[in-house]
Amino acid sequence: MTATTFDAAIVGAGPAGAALATLLARAGWSVALIEQQPFPRRKVCGECVAASNLALLDALGVGAAFAERAGGELRRVALMRGDETVVAPLPAAAGAHRFGRALGREHLDTLLADAAGNAGATRWQPWSLQAVAGDAGGYALRLRDESGGAGGDTELRAALVVAAHGSWQPLPSERAERRDARAAADLFAFKANFRAAALPSDLLPVLAFPGGYGGMVVADGGVLTLAGCLREERLRALRAAHPGLRAGEAFEAMLRDGIRGVAAALVGATREGAWLASGPLRPGVRIDADDGVFRVGNAAGEAHPIVGEGISMALQSAFVLAALIAAQRAALTSPAAAAAAQRSARAAYARAWRRNFARRLAIAAAFAHVAMRPGAAAAAWPLVRRWPGILTAGARWSDKTHCAPEAARLIGAFA
Ligand SMILES: Cc1cc2nc3c(=O)[nH]c(=O)nc-3n(C[C@H](O)[C@H](O)[C@H](O)COP(=O)(O)OP(=O)(O)OC[C@H]3O[C@@H](n4cnc5c(N)ncnc54)[C@H](O)[C@@H]3O)c2cc1C
Repeated sequence: MTATTFDAAIVGAGPAGAALATLLARAGWSVALIEQQPFPRRKVCGECVAASNLALLDALGVGAAFAERAGGELRRVALMRGDETVVAPLPAAAGAHRFGRALGREHLDTLLADAAGNAGATRWQPWSLQAVAGDAGGYALRLRDESGGAGGDTELRAALVVAAHGSWQPLPSERAERRDARAAADLFAFKANFRAAALPSDLLPVLAFPGGYGGMVVADGGVLTLAGCLREERLRALRAAHPGLRAGEAFEAMLRDGIRGVAAALVGATREGAWLASGPLRPGVRIDADDGVFRVGNAAGEAHPIVGEGISMALQSAFVLAALIAAQRAALTSPAAAAAAQRSARAAYARAWRRNFARRLAIAAAFAHVAMRPGAAAAAWPLVRRWPGILTAGARWSDKTHCAPEAARLIGAFA
């Protein structure tokens, strides 16, 4: 019979939740990893994994499978705007993995979640978290069977709860509040894959256009991933201009018409699968939420995806949290000591999270606002054209070559 009482319940089996589940299970914790969707599943994402995370994938036991499958090393970055393209080298990271690579989320997330299962975590999938009650040391989680069968609801008990459910998929209890808070500046995100596209496999173009930004990359199997975000007001106007098209198709038409580099890459290409859409995105910091729950990945804080650092922060935040709590299982899970122990661990983790990731969010927000605003983008363009090295520097400022030191130290423990 499957256990229903755990030391830790982790909600969401994206990179953050799956990595944390692996690390805690390896440290001897009993872990429930709860994921509402069956895997493999496609996901809206640019799918680039920065070089600084490849050693983390090694430590999680999925590095070889990633290396075998992922697209080529990304050695150059481009900025594409209108008819122009500026290209610059990407900075190399220190260590064995010098450049990032791209892998479809249907593959990456499956590898990571399987690793968690292999490490001993119990996978509740496809089950969705509906509600959490109780306190540190004694939480009750109500789950719903999403398999379409007659499973209905069930209850799990856990001493510690970790939110790893991403950001644009609020828990059921948060949905009404999110709906009421819609704004014209909300960002909606899109992604599609294309076969037979004409993009060099070492090039990572960032796209700047009015009201949004995006990126292209060659991922596994030579398939191109095109992903991006658009403000709600622009999306509404775009849909009005293309009444016969779905939102993703209208987004594609806008990019082909508006950015010569996109049109050139997609000439002769065929789309594989449907356009995926999600949103609204809520970039920002959520680490200080005062509800007793630990947060990793986008649930803790989300950078504008223009810098493609979300998977990095998901993996690294999981390692940072594991480095802080893995050895403290007894105190964090005992009914008598859990409240104080979890409060102090959450505070220490929040400080470490800000130290490691707050700057990434600020830099990404600055880049996103310049890219989305036609006036700001036009003003910045002469500088980019004259000094392409600013793109190299931008990648470094976004911490693309930097791994949180706590995470790097924990890798050492697995070496
Ligand atoms: C357009 C775009 C492009 C991007 N490009 C890149 C890029 O190139 N590189 C990069 O590093 N990052 C990129 N990102 C960001 C990246 O996708 C995210 O930061 C990353 O997925 C966050 O990982 P996570 O584990 O925190 O959450 P997620 O990957 O969102 O995983 C959360 C999981 O929780 C599950 N879940 C949600 N609610 C529940 C519930 N109630 N019960 C059970 N399960 C639940 C979901 O089904 C999901 O599988 C991009 C994002 C966008 C929007």
